[in-house]
Amino acid sequence: MSTILKDIQNSFVSIIKGLRITAINWSFTRPCVTELYPEQKPVLPEAYRGMPALPVDFETHRSECIACGACARMCPEQVITVVLDKTDPKDRKPSEFSIDISRCMFCGLCMEVCPKNCLKPARTFELACYSREQMVYNMNKLNELGGELPKEPEAQESESQP
Ligand code: SF4
Ligand code: SF4
Repeated sequence: MSTILKDIQNSFVSIIKGLRITAINWSFTRPCVTELYPEQKPVLPEAYRGMPALPVDFETHRSECIACGACARMCPEQVITVVLDKTDPKDRKPSEFSIDISRCMFCGLCMEVCPKNCLKPARTFELACYSREQMVYNMNKLNELGGELPKEPEAQESESQP
């Protein structure tokens, strides 16, 4: 009988302790930390590392990729496919570029090794889809995700000077 009474006493103590924590945190002076996703999109930190994407130059509207294949060779998951466009030997560019994001582990090695610094982390996290085929991002999709390549700081400075 004494054990039952002790259990009841412990239960009450636990409830009071829990309510105390609730009362401390339930205050109008404390900022709300709950994000109402998907109605409100979270603000991604500046250093957010998303999937690799291929932004395009804002003037030429094409990626600066020279199809060297360094990213494909470096990728530990071997999910990058790069094919060199051989139509103009003086203009190196890929005829095909794709990343199978279903096996990408977002390690960022491909971005680090790129000699043209043209692979950038996409600022997106909504990658859910209904098939594996949809997870293979071709060049157009990677360009779309990457958006426009930001101008180099020197170029911005020279433009702002009279
Ligand atoms: S982030 Fe890592 S795993 Fe993903 S494509 Fe680049 S190198 Fe491969
Ligand atoms: S490393 Fe850079 S330049 Fe070379 S193929 Fe990959 S994205 Fe293109």
